[in-house]
Formats: sequence, structure tokens, C-alpha cells
Amino acid sequence: MLPKFSFVRPTSLREALAVLEKKDARIHAGGSDLIGCLRDGVFDADALVALGGISELTGITTSADGGLKIGAITTVAEIADNDAIGSNYTALAEAAKVVASPQLRNQGTIGGNLCQKPRCWYYRGDFDCLRKGGEICYAYAGENQYHCIFGGDMCYIVHPSDTAPALAALGAVCRVSSPTASRSVSVDALHMPPSQDPQRETVLDDDEIITEIILPRAPAGLRSSYRKVRSRAAWDFAVAGVALALVFDGDTVRSARVFLSGAAPIPWRSKPVEDAITGKTLDGGTIVAAAEASVEGAEPLSENGYKIELFKGLLTDQLEAIKPS
Ligand SMILES: Cc1cc2nc3c(=O)[nH]c(=O)nc-3n(C[C@H](O)[C@H](O)[C@H](O)COP(=O)(O)OP(=O)(O)OC[C@H]3O[C@@H](n4cnc5c(N)ncnc54)[C@H](O)[C@@H]3O)c2cc1C
Ligand code: SF4
Repeated sequence: MLPKFSFVRPTSLREALAVLEKKDARIHAGGSDLIGCLRDGVFDADALVALGGISELTGITTSADGGLKIGAITTVAEIADNDAIGSNYTALAEAAKVVASPQLRNQGTIGGNLCQKPRCWYYRGDFDCLRKGGEICYAYAGENQYHCIFGGDMCYIVHPSDTAPALAALGAVCRVSSPTASRSVSVDALHMPPSQDPQRETVLDDDEIITEIILPRAPAGLRSSYRKVRSRAAWDFAVAGVALALVFDGDTVRSARVFLSGAAPIPWRSKPVEDAITGKTLDGGTIVAAAEASVEGAEPLSENGYKIELFKGLLTDQLEAIKPS
């Protein structure tokens, strides 16, 4: 059952920030994740601040440097269907297209997708685990087949967002406002690893709102992609996924940004893969080396060792698919 809370509908960012400053309030964008968390007792709130009536947070526009600005309450469906994103930032379009179901893509926003809570079944269930302020992680010695193989430390979630690894690979930056200041946070630094604080998912303070996401101008030679593997053919979260943003000079990879999903509590940057392919052509030997590198340092739990071969296969397929023909 939903707890009692007040629901505030500001029409400007200033008004929304003023409510966050005064009340124990949570931000409501599409509500597709937030309402489930409140209903399931994951946390509570005195007030919800709805962003839906704030027109300055909407829309996809070209920025002064030729990149793109995406308002934080732009829906995932609008991003999936946008022509400029499809042609210049393919990884983001591909990621948006595989988020949840058509209904959830119409309801869910890009800001909410980046800030959604983890899907660990203990956290979402009746378990007072470490992330909810309890003493222990139930997944570590329990049912952990969908948990992390990198970056686990006290808590072993995987980050649930598909758009976050794609945006991180593309070098996107969030503009963030609080009642007193504004700042920029790059998407690759937005999420908080459990080693820093197992009860927080992002570096944002409670009174900070993501207002827009900025994609830099796509460099000449950029090719990008996102693909995830799910445990069933229907809509589902990533068991394993990879976002690639490679800049080619002819057949040679001039620079590479590679992020894994379904791998770690945050979108996981794979420097070993980047190092294995930068300055190389994607021939058979390079791809085999990169696939091996993708699992370097992995520490599978008792039930998720299968992810090792999954990531190796995924990397192999995606590098084969992205190389210039
Ligand atoms: C059944 C189901 C399946 C799903 N499958 C997938 C999937 O396969 N892949 C995937 O990526 N996602 C998946 N999702 C998550 C879904 O995409 C998110 O629920 C959605 O994107 C969240 O957007 P929202 O606007 O509804 O966020 P809300 O529910 O409104 O908010 C989510 C969280 O983000 C915070 N927040 C929202 N906007 C901002 C902002 N601008 N600034 C700061 N904080 C903010 C809220 O306070 C809240 O904590 C699934 C969800 C469900 C319910
Ligand atoms: S993995 Fe994290 S969220 Fe899940 S039970 Fe352990 S501490 Fe809780």
C-alpha cells in the first residue's frame, strides 16, 4: 500500500527547488520507479515534487557546439525515436529502444532512468539489507545470479539503467541544479560505488535535480552501439550489456570508451578493453584479446559465474559488428 504523502506540482524549476529545500521531498519524474519503491516500502517520503509541469525541462535541441541538449523529463520513447540521436549517437538510441516495455518508455524519463533504484530482489522485498540501512547483504551468500561481477563491496547490485552506460560511453554530462547552485556532473561520475556509500546510488544531494543532459558534438569517425542480453526474450533488465563509442581513423580505432551494464553497481568502464583496441584494427586477434580483457579482474559470486563467458561473447559480437566494413 502507498504511504501518505503530499504531491506538489510546480510549474518552474525555481518552485521545484524551493519545495526540495523546505520539505523531506522526493523528485517524481514519470513515477514508474518511484511509486513502486514507495508502494513496496523500500523508502518513504513526506512529499513528492512532480517535474511533469516544468516546460524548461523538456525537449531535445542542438547545442551551440553542435552537440545535443536533452531535457531531463524527455521520455525514453522520445529519445528512442529521435532522428538526430539515431544517426549521431546510435548507442543511446539502441539503449533507449531496449528499456523496459513501450508503456514504460512512454512514461519513464531520461533523468529518472539515470537515477532509478536498484532491482536487487532483497532490496525490493521485505529484507532490511545493508542498502536499506540494515547490517548485512543477503545476496552475497544468497540468490545472486543477477548480481555483479565487478565493483562489489558490501553490496553487490548491478546498475539497472540501459541509457547510463550508453551516455557514459558517449561522454555525456548532466546539468544539475540545487536551491543554491548549479553544477555539471559527467554521466561517468554520476553513480556512487558501494565502497563509497552502500546506501546511495548517485553523487547527487537530495535537493539536486538533473535539469538536462548534454551530449558533446559527435566527432568525425564516431561509431557507437549498445546491446544487452536478458534472461528471457520479453522486456527485462540487462544480465550483461555493452556500450561502445569508438572513433575510427580508417580501420584503426583512434579512441575508445567502453562501458558494461549488468556487470557492476555502477556503469562499469572497461579500461582493459579500451587499451586492448586503441590504436589497433579490429582483426580477429585484437577482438579475442579484447573479449578476454573484458573480464579481467572479475570476481563472480556463487551463482553468476556464467556472466564471464556471456561478456566475452557479447564483446566479440559487438566488436565484429561495429568495425568498418
Ligand atoms: C517493470 C519495469 C521494467 C523496467 N525495465 C528496465 C530496463 O530494461 N532498462 C532500464 O534501463 N530501465 C528499466 N526500467 C526502469 C524504467 O526505465 C525507469 O522506471 C524509468 O526510466 C524511470 O523514469 P521515471 O521518469 O519514471 O522516474 P521516477 O520513477 O519518477 O524516478 C526514479 C528515481 O529518479 C529520481 N529522479 C527522477 N528524475 C530526476 C531528476 N531529473 N533529477 C534527479 N533525480 C531524479 C526520483 O526521485 C527517483 O528516485 C524498468 C522499470 C520497470 C517498472
Ligand atoms: S546486493 Fe545490495 S541491495 Fe542486494 S541485498 Fe545486498 S546490500 Fe542489499
